[in-house]
Amino acid sequence: MLEIKNLHASVEGKDILKGINLKINAGEVHAIMGPNGSGKSTLSNVLAGREDYTITEGSVTFGGKDLLQLPAEIRACEGIFLSFQYPVEIPGVSNMVFLKAAINAKRKHQGQPEIEAVDFLAWVKDRVKKMSMDIKMLQRGVNEGFSGGEKKRNEILQMLLLEPKLMILDETDSGLDIDALKIVAEGINTMRSPERATLLVTHYQRLLDYVKPDFVHVLAGGRIIKSGGPELARELEEKGYGWLDAA
Ligand code: ADP
Ligand code: MG
Ligand code: MG
Repeated sequence: MLEIKNLHASVEGKDILKGINLKINAGEVHAIMGPNGSGKSTLSNVLAGREDYTITEGSVTFGGKDLLQLPAEIRACEGIFLSFQYPVEIPGVSNMVFLKAAINAKRKHQGQPEIEAVDFLAWVKDRVKKMSMDIKMLQRGVNEGFSGGEKKRNEILQMLLLEPKLMILDETDSGLDIDALKIVAEGINTMRSPERATLLVTHYQRLLDYVKPDFVHVLAGGRIIKSGGPELARELEEKGYGWLDAA
């Protein structure tokens, strides 16, 4: 599904990603862990197509297409979803309108007509319930005045509605209490399927207790310095990252 080869990226002339190689097949969940400032968010943002980054070397293919050539909106329509570490607020644009626009953009890209208002409402209600959210939150501006946990739930709600092929979650677990964490994890697990893949960026083993990864990678200094199975996450939780530098 996703193949990253020797990816180098810089921000404001500073090299951040220094040769990332990663292959993600449909059905797999990959966790990326690593110290602060190692480039985890940069990698997530580069895959989603955010503009502040310059790709200086390497390639990324998604479903056989050259991902780096596609603008961010098209990547979203093609099935890439990024949940932000710091979800943005869009005051004045209601959540409901935002979600509907996002769904219709994707449908248009796939040559489908706009979703019927009734279908949309039923669909939204079902997912809102899954995320233990209040439907009233959808009348408010996108993330406007939402608490940290509510923003994260809202992100997962967007994900449930958009049904992406590749879900990239950048520290969606940070700042969540245990109940919110479980709901977010459940949302992610609901979406797990043989056709979809997940890239889970996280600092903590905690989320990985609820969303079991197939592979765990350690990103440090812009490179993947170690890969393993779920046991690697436990090892990191115990020992931190320092022992890897010495290795
Ligand atoms: P992580 O998510 O692993 O904590 P980031 O990808 O956010 O790491 O950041 C990696 C490095 O890139 C950091 O040194 C950070 O300061 C720098 N960086 C990231 N985004 C920007 C930006 N927009 N402008 C300047 N520096 C940035
Ligand atoms: Mg960070
Ligand atoms: Mg980050």
